[in-house]
Amino acid sequence: MITIYNAAKILTMNPQRPEATHVAVRDGRILGVGNLAEVSGWGDFKLDERFAEKVLMPGLVEAHCHLMEGTLWSHTYLGYFDRMDPSGAVQAGCKTIQAGLDKLALAELPLASANEPLTAWGLDPIYFGNERISRHQLDAISSTRPIGILHASGHSMNVNTKALELAGLLREGLEHGGIPLGDDGLPTGELRSPEIMGLASSHVGLAREILACDEPGMWRFAQLCIRAGVTTATDLAALLPDETVDIMQRVTDDPAFPARIVPYRFHLGVNPERLIEHVQSLAKRTTDKLRLGGIKVTVDGSIQGFTARIRAPGYFNGAPNGLWYISIEHLEYILETALAKNIHVHLHTNGDQATELVLDTMEKVLRRVPSSDHRFTLQHCQLADTAQFRRMKKLGLCVNHFANHHYYWGDTHYAQTVGPERAERMNACATALREGVPMAIHSDAPITPLGPLFTAWCATQRLTSSGRVLGETEKITLGQALHAVTVGAAYTLKLDVEIGSIEVGKRADFAVLDDDPFAVGAERLNDLSIWGTVLGGRVFPANPQ
Ligand SMILES: [Zn+2]
Repeated sequence: MITIYNAAKILTMNPQRPEATHVAVRDGRILGVGNLAEVSGWGDFKLDERFAEKVLMPGLVEAHCHLMEGTLWSHTYLGYFDRMDPSGAVQAGCKTIQAGLDKLALAELPLASANEPLTAWGLDPIYFGNERISRHQLDAISSTRPIGILHASGHSMNVNTKALELAGLLREGLEHGGIPLGDDGLPTGELRSPEIMGLASSHVGLAREILACDEPGMWRFAQLCIRAGVTTATDLAALLPDETVDIMQRVTDDPAFPARIVPYRFHLGVNPERLIEHVQSLAKRTTDKLRLGGIKVTVDGSIQGFTARIRAPGYFNGAPNGLWYISIEHLEYILETALAKNIHVHLHTNGDQATELVLDTMEKVLRRVPSSDHRFTLQHCQLADTAQFRRMKKLGLCVNHFANHHYYWGDTHYAQTVGPERAERMNACATALREGVPMAIHSDAPITPLGPLFTAWCATQRLTSSGRVLGETEKITLGQALHAVTVGAAYTLKLDVEIGSIEVGKRADFAVLDDDPFAVGAERLNDLSIWGTVLGGRVFPANPQ
């Protein structure tokens, strides 16, 4: 059966036929795009006019986010900014540390047993003059149950004394950059870097595998996708044990699940040989709505957490350089083997020293294993300079910039982390495009909220939350930004052959907008409301009647 949808306008993101009024769909695929006369030639059809007043775009592609966003909403949100939850309600941000502690104390009250963990997320010390929460402040809320708060960056957490004890970390003599010590020689309760956080995370409800594979969490995440117009989303650092993949497969197989999920296997937790074997076996389980077989390597930490590796002259406030999350030998092995076995790799490089290491390593391994279309992608790549973009182009790398960072942390980057000049070149979208590097932009949800149109607004405006324009010359146009959240993002996932534009043969995945982005204009793109989505021809309203 053929369904033809008409719309006030269809923005196809296919430059050969950029606008249309009708799209014909059969068996989840697009048969034709054009006017009614053009698309009705495929045979008997049903005309569906429910989008007559709406604007259709290709389903938006979030090429760097985490399913964890859905799971975290079952815990206490302690972020600084107001944020929409999966139900569409807006939760108020915590503007002081005390407000956060008060909210946590309230969340503690209904917990049943005395040792059930209390879990929270979204805390960002940078908004509180870098004042840290100590384990003693959390002990005042409960000394019997473990408490854990995941930071907004995802690269640090705070725990109470009970959690330290359970993690085996309540002792003197610990010497690790990821374990700050108090005057008493014991850990303060702040834990940094994945391997250190991993010691406590399972005790406080923040274990990566718990956050990643929770079935209700996947459905909550799906609600956020519909509200954001997203039809394809990554899960960009997943451990993917069999039980998790079973859940993901069961959930995504449900026709009522409204998104394609693209999990990449995180490099941590196994040795590189096992990692390669694991993703090769995962690839065999790939389906239309669950795309498996890629690797995510994290090379360094976060800039606002001062755990990113940056080149001289280093951090503006004099903080010591950040942390490496992988050894040079392992990085080289993974990249070379992945090239040889045609495995796709995304690489988190926040600081420019981390980016430089990947560029050097790619140059080396590509000499041994040449590849004409590997599309390995630098994720965030926030501090890269123009010389590095030229090398990316030569080495066939793509980039996925963290455009939302300007809004949330731009003022901090300007004043504290990297200083005025480097803050202006962060997430250099215009330079990437000028140098010919294929580019996407992302939210890294749950680090910042899922919402590609907001991300596109960030990339076109480069405004910070205080209203400063950071990097006038790195603004991109509305058309470029919309490309980056559709075809551009699909390209970095090697999925542009089937999604990212509305054109014949591709999947019938649409974002249904209440207005035309070009009529609304780039400066008001963040206000554009989204009606819902269509996935493989099935309609998903954000607010069902
Ligand atoms: Zn991420």
